[in-house]
Amino acid sequence: MKISDSPMNASDYIALFRARIAGLKTEGRYRSFAELERPAGHFPRARWHTAQGVREVVIWCSNDYLGMGHHDVVRNAMRAAIDAGSTGAGGTRNIAGTHHLHVELERTLARLHGKDAALLFTSGYSANHTALSVLGRQLPNCVILSDAGNHNSMIEGIRRSDAQKIVFAHNNLAELEMHLRALPAEQPKIIAFESVYSMSGSISPIVEICALAKRYGAMTYLDEVHAVGMYGAHGGGVAEALGVANQIDIIQGTLGKAFGLGGGYIAAATEIVDCVRSFGNGFIFSTSLPPVIAAGALASVTHLMHSDEERIAQQGHAAYLKAQLQEVGIPYVHSPSHIVPVLVAGAARVKAVSDMLLNDHGIYVQPINYPTVPRGAERLRFTPGPKHTPELIDGLVKALVAVGLAKPAEEISATIQKNLQTV
Ligand code: PLP
Repeated sequence: MKISDSPMNASDYIALFRARIAGLKTEGRYRSFAELERPAGHFPRARWHTAQGVREVVIWCSNDYLGMGHHDVVRNAMRAAIDAGSTGAGGTRNIAGTHHLHVELERTLARLHGKDAALLFTSGYSANHTALSVLGRQLPNCVILSDAGNHNSMIEGIRRSDAQKIVFAHNNLAELEMHLRALPAEQPKIIAFESVYSMSGSISPIVEICALAKRYGAMTYLDEVHAVGMYGAHGGGVAEALGVANQIDIIQGTLGKAFGLGGGYIAAATEIVDCVRSFGNGFIFSTSLPPVIAAGALASVTHLMHSDEERIAQQGHAAYLKAQLQEVGIPYVHSPSHIVPVLVAGAARVKAVSDMLLNDHGIYVQPINYPTVPRGAERLRFTPGPKHTPELIDGLVKALVAVGLAKPAEEISATIQKNLQTV
């Protein structure tokens, strides 16, 4: 800390940043990234680069949920796009950056969700941030009702909109209705929520939320980032699986998770998409997705619209992992989705367990801690996919037992017990 009155110099600034990082290290929340290579055709096996050399590990926390990042259909489409055209888009969508592949991909995404139109963004984060900021700002006197578990991209988009915001408890219909009832009937309202919540694996009551939206005259905005490609007969998400996609006004998704690429989108009525396209700074002022990414995404989305094989294998392996955890007494969050969180409360503890798994067992699962989840609800988040065979799952469970996660119920800490009930 500076004590003299002299002007700040470069080393004073560096010392301030160092102090901020030291705080994170003391709390055990300092993030270190595993340096990986994912050789083609070997997913979920990967090469981990360390100071001591390269080791083979198995990735257990990837959001390449269906392994599409390695699928030949996707890789061939990208190779063909590279051979046929340019690497980058060459501009924003408005200034020479709209490629035929962008338009084809938007048409396909609109069809996937049964909407008039879709709009691409360079990330799912940007899609949420931009769309919610535009919708909240363009609707006069708008109020946005936001689930407490919503992703940071939605929270920041809502903040940027300057609209009135009401946060309701996670998946709590009674509280949502209480707020809706208290608002003037003529006031524009948007209910913003997710289908699959990525850190707990919980699924929202979409049908009931749609019913409330109808009763109280609200629009619905649904983030299906952790569901597109994986739920519904064509991979249109949980809303498709439940047959209510037509009751959702704006569906938001990513190309970066189950579709295996990168980029995000919204799908909605023509007028809504046109409004976001016309007023959304995060869309207007950014170079559009490289066409080669659009080519890969188009191949991936189209493949998953027609193939169930990956979805069936993913669900089967998630169910098998849950059954094996149950069998050996490892406490996990009983989610209805493909996401399997194992709570290991304490930032330092979850990091230590994750380090042991990686160093001693070749199992890579990143520790999840604050601010991604509340303090005390730290966890390991497993995302078994089609390529995580029962043999690999058996090996994982053995390793979890070896690092001490299988404990008699009475030994599970009060914090973990509490969190198991509340997530
Ligand atoms: N929405 C949710 C619920 C997410 O979990 C994420 C990212 O993890 C995003 C949006 C952002 O998507 P993207 O990774 O494509 O930027």
